[in-house]
Amino acid sequence: MSLVLKNARLLEGEQEVTRNIHVEAGVIQTISQQPIEATEEIDCSGLLLAPGFVDIHVHMREPGATDKETIATGTMAAARGGFTTVCAMPNTRPVPDTEGNLALVQELIQDHAYVSVLPYASITTRQLGEELTNMKALRALGAVAFTDDGVGVQSADTMLNAMQRAKEIGASIVAHCEDNSLIHNGVIHQGETSRALGVNGIPSVCESVQIARDVLLAEATGCHYHVCHVSTKESVRVIRDAKRAGIPVTAEVTPHHLILTEEDIVEDDAMFKMNPPLRSRDDRRALLNGLMDGTIDCIATDHAPHTEEEKQQGLNNAPFGIVGLETAFSLLHTYLVKEQRCSLKELIDWLTIKPASVFGLASGKIAVGQRADFVLLDLTKESTINRHSLLSKGKNTPFHGYTVVGSPVLTMVSGEVVWKEELSYDKA
Ligand SMILES: [Zn+2]
Repeated sequence: MSLVLKNARLLEGEQEVTRNIHVEAGVIQTISQQPIEATEEIDCSGLLLAPGFVDIHVHMREPGATDKETIATGTMAAARGGFTTVCAMPNTRPVPDTEGNLALVQELIQDHAYVSVLPYASITTRQLGEELTNMKALRALGAVAFTDDGVGVQSADTMLNAMQRAKEIGASIVAHCEDNSLIHNGVIHQGETSRALGVNGIPSVCESVQIARDVLLAEATGCHYHVCHVSTKESVRVIRDAKRAGIPVTAEVTPHHLILTEEDIVEDDAMFKMNPPLRSRDDRRALLNGLMDGTIDCIATDHAPHTEEEKQQGLNNAPFGIVGLETAFSLLHTYLVKEQRCSLKELIDWLTIKPASVFGLASGKIAVGQRADFVLLDLTKESTINRHSLLSKGKNTPFHGYTVVGSPVLTMVSGEVVWKEELSYDKA
């Protein structure tokens, strides 16, 4: 099939240009100002064509917790959010910690995914922080990188050995940083809100001390080390210093940590419970500054669906996590670009080429020879986020009722439309 995307607005640097794009065999063949003949065409007039978004931090929940999400529903949510490549976290049951278990995840992806899913494998067996997995075999089978996300690796020695092994095979270590001795049974950030609501707080050092330890281990081993969901100003400073020292560290931040703070939690509502927690205004400012100066490389959603019953249990008992795939672009466009905190080009880069380059993935750009993964964005469309209409099984978002400007209207993977407004495909 031959397809032309007509009159698409593209970003060339900070400039917008209008182009026709010819796609055949799932690959971009031509980008031209001249008209192109093709058997099918999509008129993109008035819409911005961006590379499909890349999210390197997503919880698909399958295998093991299909009441929360499945590969099918999670990737449909991804498609609706404009994401064409997502990396799936390994805190599933079973954990992809052996070749057999990783192969099981890959089969599910093969059979059910609407977008590209690159699975992580775990650093340690069953993510228990003790015995290292066979990284060489798991990498050979297609693990994108290694992480025990959901928990921190508690032992410095285990992390040191993991980094040595990853360095040998040219793989990355990706870390959820949390020192278990500093959690203090906390459920939100330790600060004014935790005191006001009378719940236990998680101090900022719970995260930052483990990042400080790990960047030194990365320096000692030369291993590429990526920090998940940075949430505190101290963490940003440690990563900034580490980058200045030439340590191979990269980092991500979530949309909710860029937009919300602990002050948004006004009652005992678990829709605002996630790990790491919403921090202070100073932290939020530091996170945005970190993105702007390149200390933080990219944005990742940490999409973490849970059931209604689970999230109705209040701050003390509900599980940590919120969904993020379907609301990420609209929220970031509204609260960062429209409020002139960053440019549209910067936001698109943080969602495309920047996360792709963390792991050296080929995706995240529009160029001849690239796979035709796109999202068409209507930057003027106003809408209200309604958690009940999310395609994800998880309806757990603190952004219900928010009015946003700008949203994806069509998503394409390898030249095939996988989602467009008011249309979702059923996959057997
Ligand atoms: Zn995490």
